[in-house]
Amino acid sequence: MKLEKLEARVLCDNGICKNTADYAVEREDTPKNMRLYLCKSCVKELYRLFWAVLKQKKESN
Ligand SMILES: [Zn+2]
Repeated sequence: MKLEKLEARVLCDNGICKNTADYAVEREDTPKNMRLYLCKSCVKELYRLFWAVLKQKKESN
């Protein structure tokens, strides 16, 4: 997967978030119009959430 910094004005894909997306997450072979668009504040929040979950998993192993 790769991460692209967006210049184009696209809305964030996260639920009812109305921010303009700052990043596009592109999985291999995904068409451009099916990429995951996320704004900076959602990326930060997701990072925090996933980090907490992944850390928990590691500790329970
Ligand atoms: Zn957002």
